[in-house]
Amino acid sequence: MDLIYTDDEAARKHLESLLWPDGPICPHCGTVDEATLMKGKTTRAGLYNCRACDKPFTVTVGTIYESSKIPLHKWVYATHLMTASKKGISAAQLHRMLGFGSYRTAWFMAHRIREAMKGSSGAGPLGGEGQVVEADETYFHKVENPSDVRADGKPFRADVARAKGEKPYGGYGPANKRPIVVLCERGGKARTFHVAEANRETIEKILHGNVDTASRLHTDESHLYKRFGGRFAAHESVNHSKDEYARGDVTSNSAEGFFNVFKRGMTGVYQHCGEAYLQRYLIEFEFRHNTRAKLGVNDKERAALAIQGAQGKRLTLRRPANA
Ligand SMILES: [Zn+2]
Repeated sequence: MDLIYTDDEAARKHLESLLWPDGPICPHCGTVDEATLMKGKTTRAGLYNCRACDKPFTVTVGTIYESSKIPLHKWVYATHLMTASKKGISAAQLHRMLGFGSYRTAWFMAHRIREAMKGSSGAGPLGGEGQVVEADETYFHKVENPSDVRADGKPFRADVARAKGEKPYGGYGPANKRPIVVLCERGGKARTFHVAEANRETIEKILHGNVDTASRLHTDESHLYKRFGGRFAAHESVNHSKDEYARGDVTSNSAEGFFNVFKRGMTGVYQHCGEAYLQRYLIEFEFRHNTRAKLGVNDKERAALAIQGAQGKRLTLRRPANA
């Protein structure tokens, strides 16, 4: 096994080479390559002192690894396992393979690494001139926990209906399932949205700003997408209800392919996913899709991208005692 997975010093050097390609960056004043590596018996490994502002720092400051008790090589190994597993890796499996900590520690690490995977489709709108962006929605898993609320904090429609003594009504989709919208560049990147309700208003908000208007928009025949045609270079749809899945180059196959991988992974690997965590899992599948081998990214480069993404990610999860 590569030293970066077993040795802390090697893992730290690996992080430094990925996060500081031009030399140590002082997180206090931003000065690049003007720091002295501190040495001494009581000095923490990898501690630098900035010559510009005279403050100490290490490579983990401001990353998901900051002040973690988990050895760095375990973080690097966990990142490799998560980014190389096509359908993801469960916290139980991760715990076994790391040979370390508790299930809860592995679960915590996995969610931190998902945080580092955020933003893999870039900041700007998807698509562009001459490009196709597919938009599609799906419904995932019933709400498991009766106390779960929708992504917007409101109760699920089925619960509202039941409270009124009415029969749950599906509306735009199954009343107590969780809607997900995906935008998928043909042969490119994907961006996902777990929404409270997939309605025209939500779809409009998502399309606006996330899809370059010079793109051709491909969808199915759903009325959700009907009035947005004029905003894009073209809007073409296939009619699934009439068994039409492709007409010329018009399909929503990339979007459906994304959902297939996601659902297979969620059912086979993760099994349970609370409402609060659904978007995090989506980010993980989105990351692997956006860094897939077909786009010329290998396993090593994919793991490196997840480590580079660890920068500037604030700790938001409560950590277990040994993490
Ligand atoms: Zn400084």
